[in-house]
Amino acid sequence: MFKEIINDEKIFTLIEETKDYSVSEIRVIINKALQKKGLSLKEVAALLNVKTPELTSEIKTAAKKIKEEIYGNRIVIFAPMYVTNECINDCLYCGFRCSNKELKRRTLSIDEIKEETNLLTRMGHKRVLLVCGEHPKYANADFVAEAVRAVYSQKDSKNQIRRINVNVAPLSVDDFKKIKKEGIGTYQMFQETYHRETYEKMHPSGPKSNYETRITAFEKAFSAGIDDLGAGVLFGLFDYKYEVLAMISHCEYLEKTIGVGPHTISVPRIEPALNAPAAGNVPYPIDDEEFMKLVAIIRLAVPYTGIILSTRETQQLRAKLIHLGVSQVSAGSKTNPGGYEESEHNMPDEQQFAVGDFRTLDEVIKDLSQNGFIPSFCTGCYRTGRTGIDFMAITKPGLIQEFCHPNALVTFKEYLLDYASEETRNIGEALIRSELEKFTNNEARKNAEKMIERTQNGERDIFC
Ligand code: SAM
Ligand code: SF4
Repeated sequence: MFKEIINDEKIFTLIEETKDYSVSEIRVIINKALQKKGLSLKEVAALLNVKTPELTSEIKTAAKKIKEEIYGNRIVIFAPMYVTNECINDCLYCGFRCSNKELKRRTLSIDEIKEETNLLTRMGHKRVLLVCGEHPKYANADFVAEAVRAVYSQKDSKNQIRRINVNVAPLSVDDFKKIKKEGIGTYQMFQETYHRETYEKMHPSGPKSNYETRITAFEKAFSAGIDDLGAGVLFGLFDYKYEVLAMISHCEYLEKTIGVGPHTISVPRIEPALNAPAAGNVPYPIDDEEFMKLVAIIRLAVPYTGIILSTRETQQLRAKLIHLGVSQVSAGSKTNPGGYEESEHNMPDEQQFAVGDFRTLDEVIKDLSQNGFIPSFCTGCYRTGRTGIDFMAITKPGLIQEFCHPNALVTFKEYLLDYASEETRNIGEALIRSELEKFTNNEARKNAEKMIERTQNGERDIFC
């Protein structure tokens, strides 16, 4: 069965077979990708083998075009919330690993989770990714469910967290049902590496050492009613060409078996972490050029799957990557439990890994707006039931524009009115005006204008 998900022999053969594709063969593949129907594994392998700067640049140009056609200039914004750094696994790359005795362990109480939520909402966030280590006592499904409830319970006159995605270790079907019941959005889980031998080396003990449990987690989540899934690879553990092909195989397998592929793909790269040998000495380091190329290839291979980039990467690289296919970014992130408090807890010895982009949310929003991107806090799809198979039915014919653009503008407007600095507000208001002028469909423009006007007049949380 596992060979059906990831067939190593096939992947390595494809990498070998496509090593010497000619320039014209590669251009045929790029042109096919521009039709936004995705690529076969063999075609993806051929693109991964591209070495020349000219063809790499053509791949990036195509990724930019596809991204603009499907996602427009919107970038969805979220922040992670770490609720515990207790963990019984010993992943060689992670600061939370159980053998890291120098890490200060902390599990937030429900009151502290509410306080972190309030800090995030006061920054202007609307979407949270709840993250924790794996621990039967501190991070079990009941705790995660209670934490989700606590986040959703916090409201002030203007704002609340409207969508919680979770990144937690694989659960049983019953436990997945418990967290689904609380109204989670995406269940995100990274395979880390699809290469079994490397997987076993990197996860020497604890429940995570079981490759099968991890690779079958999405099917379990799906059978518990979670149809919004987020996949990912931790780049740097093994050869990136293999990892990209394996991840695409996993997506294909899910489409075939449960009828829906991942809604998002995350592309974390290993960052420095306290007492984590594989983070200090990355087994397969990927330089920035290769990283940009692989993100662009993912955009070509699965055009309708969101690509998520975290603050692991620097401001400079993030600026380049959002042109190449990234559709969601985190901003103002802290990777330690209680990290949003202004207190002594903001210490490196409580963090999972070191972030590369330290800017505040407002600085990120200003920068995006100055560069013509619409920061979106939209949660419309999830709340109108446009997820999973329904979501695919909407996105595939490209109807996403009809909902996403007006909704993005409205949530951006909310941010500008309620939380932005004056400078960001001025830049943002000008951007909204110019975006409204770009609408070609009069009715859609009128509808967006009306929603924005209602927001200006004090209404909140309007979406279509
Ligand atoms: N503990 C759960 C698990 O491992 O699935 C869920 C959360 S874990 C805190 C989230 C992700 O952080 C991991 O899946 C891994 O890909 C990533 N991560 C761990 N160490 C990292 C590092 N040093 N640099 C970048 N990302 C890292
Ligand atoms: Fe624990 Fe997850 Fe870190 Fe592994 S990656 S040590 S499971 S928190």
